[in-house]
Amino acid sequence: MPHIVIIGGGFAGVWAAAAAARLRDAAGLDITLIAPDDAMVLRPRMYEADPDRATVPLSGLLDPIEVRHRRAWAERIDVAARRVHAGGEAIGYDRLVLATGSRLVRPGLPGAGLLFDVDTLAGARRLADHLRGRDGFTAVVVGAGFTGLEVATELAGRGRVVLVDQADVVGPDLGPAPRPYIEDALGRLGVELRLGTGLCAVEPGGAVLSGGTRIAADAVVWTAGVRADPLTEQIPARRDRLGRLAVDRWMRVAEPSGAVFAAGDVAAARFDDGHDVMQSCQHATPMGKTAGHNAAADLLGLPPLDFAPAPYVTCLDLGAAGGLYTKGWEREVALSGERGKEVKQWIMKRIQPPVDDAGLLLDLAGRVRLPIPF
Ligand SMILES: Cc1cc2nc3c(=O)[nH]c(=O)nc-3n(C[C@H](O)[C@H](O)[C@H](O)COP(=O)(O)OP(=O)(O)OC[C@H]3O[C@@H](n4cnc5c(N)ncnc54)[C@H](O)[C@@H]3O)c2cc1C
Repeated sequence: MPHIVIIGGGFAGVWAAAAAARLRDAAGLDITLIAPDDAMVLRPRMYEADPDRATVPLSGLLDPIEVRHRRAWAERIDVAARRVHAGGEAIGYDRLVLATGSRLVRPGLPGAGLLFDVDTLAGARRLADHLRGRDGFTAVVVGAGFTGLEVATELAGRGRVVLVDQADVVGPDLGPAPRPYIEDALGRLGVELRLGTGLCAVEPGGAVLSGGTRIAADAVVWTAGVRADPLTEQIPARRDRLGRLAVDRWMRVAEPSGAVFAAGDVAAARFDDGHDVMQSCQHATPMGKTAGHNAAADLLGLPPLDFAPAPYVTCLDLGAAGGLYTKGWEREVALSGERGKEVKQWIMKRIQPPVDDAGLLLDLAGRVRLPIPF
């Protein structure tokens, strides 16, 4: 039986597995998903006060669609021999989908080991446990981008928050359109801004900023910058500045074997008049569906599917100040405040794949373009 191996149990990996399983015919298709944990972690919710609520058991997703879960870290990919080395085993494949996501780039500064983060479940748990029950804590959040803003506004409801960024503006990569709304929310929540300022060192009792300013803090949270998982370096193909493998509109990587697909934060697909996908679950999900479908279609002699995601939107949680929902690449604000928050909560429910429901999971796997009805 032909064998599809998927590495990664996040948005891209799970949806790739479901999309491949959906194409299984009478001849059969063997599908293995390699991931180290028992649960899919909903990373966009790691800024919440209780991150453990943002996980989904992989068994409830994979068992109903008869996808095998190999609980291990993939250590090496041998593209020439079509094998993945994981947990002391060499697993052969006919088609591979690499979906190992991204990880936070940690700074090499004094005391960096003391930094907190919300990049992984372990990191988010550590921060939540550290702050739980502390009255009137002070947190320094480094990075006023998407993640830093969500962390800062969430923590602002519970303690003093100082938001630091090297840029002179908040949300430097979000563009000018949403900025007035963000500034207003930060002001209302009492978040203190230190813009045009870098983090120089972390100490047990706080942060040292550029210029030598010391801020006494219970936690210093690093949120700035993610990079594709380093397994991408084992595929002999072009990578972009974020370490992502270039893929075509079928999510296939241009490498000699022709048997490797990539999806999610490890892959850079160009679409929509020359835009590259964002490292977001919004794109990881349709990329996973496209990659899984095409890996299976390739083996079963079926036509491939083009990557065609829903129009680009952004939805930012601003804690007690509501939320912000923007449309298009210029991020024009469509909804803010309470309405923006409602859309965020609607999206956060929808990003979770259905558990113990093979019919619905397979049906959704066949729908790459799922627009947000707002
Ligand atoms: C705090 C935060 C807030 C975010 N907010 C948003 C948001 O509002 N909207 C949005 O669209 N996106 C958001 N994102 C980004 C989004 O979470 C990612 O883009 C998305 O998770 C990428 O999906 P993925 O499947 O590519 O990777 P991941 O979800 O990271 O999954 C990767 C999987 O691969 C596994 N893996 C890694 N290495 C190996 C290995 N060697 N062997 C086997 N398995 C491996 C991991 O265990 C995991 O199961 C946010 C991210 C963070 C951290």
